Amino acid sequence: MSEAAQRIAALRAKIRAAAAAAGRSPEALQLIAVSKTFGADRVAELADAGLSDFGENYVDEAQEKLAALADRSIRWHFIGPLQSNKTRAVAEGFDWVHSVDRLKIARRLSSQRPANRGELNVCVQVNISGEASKSGVAPADAAALCTAIEELPSLRLRGLMAIPDPAREPEPQYAALAELRQALHRRGHAMDVLSAGMSGDFVQAIAHGATHLRIGTALFGARR
Ligand SMILES: *Cc1c(COP(=O)(O)O)cnc(C)c1O
Repeated sequence: MSEAAQRIAALRAKIRAAAAAAGRSPEALQLIAVSKTFGADRVAELADAGLSDFGENYVDEAQEKLAALADRSIRWHFIGPLQSNKTRAVAEGFDWVHSVDRLKIARRLSSQRPANRGELNVCVQVNISGEASKSGVAPADAAALCTAIEELPSLRLRGLMAIPDPAREPEPQYAALAELRQALHRRGHAMDVLSAGMSGDFVQAIAHGATHLRIGTALFGARR
C-alpha cells in the first residue's frame, strides 16, 4: 500500500469508529481532503488512492491546481475567506463554497456562476466561537442570510460550516452549531449538510452531526 493509501485507510478507520460511537452510518460522512499548501502532485496521489473531494483556501494557489488536474473528476470545495474580487474564479472553478458569510459574496457567486456548471453548492459559515478575528456570520444573523441565499438563482444552500476556536474545547462549540442547525430546520431551512470537523476534532464533530469533514494534516502530513 502506498503511504497515501495507508493514511487514508487509517483515517477512514477512525471515522468509522467515531460514526459507530455516535450511532451514525459512516456512509453519511463525506471526506474532503484539504490540500492547501500542497501541490497538484500530492492531490493527484490522494486522488489515485481513491479520494474524490478536495478543499482549497486560497484562490490564487487553487487556480494552478485546478488547471493542472482539470482532466480528473475531482469535486473542488472552496473553504477559505473569500474577497469580492476573487468570486468569479471560485464561481467558475469550484463545485462547493463552504465559507459564505455575507450576502454581497453570495450575490456575486450567483451572478458569476456559468449556466453550464449547474447550481453552486454553498454553506453559510457561522462564527460559532464568537472570536472577533474569525470569519463567519454571527449565529443570530444566520437565518436572514440563509433566507437571502435561498432566493439566489444559481446557488443551492446546503448547510452550515464552522471552525471552532482551537484554544477552547471543540465539544460545546459543535453542540452550539448543531443547535443552530436545528433552529434553522424548524424555521424551514431544509439544509442537509453540516461542514465541521478537522484533523484534531472530527470525532466531536461527528458526534454532533457533521456530514462533511474537512481534513488536511491527517491526510497530507503537517503543513510548513
Ligand atoms: C486548513 C483547514 C482545515 C484542515 O485542517 P487540519 O487541521 O489540517 O485537518 C479545515 N478547514 C479549514 C477551513 C481549514 O482552513
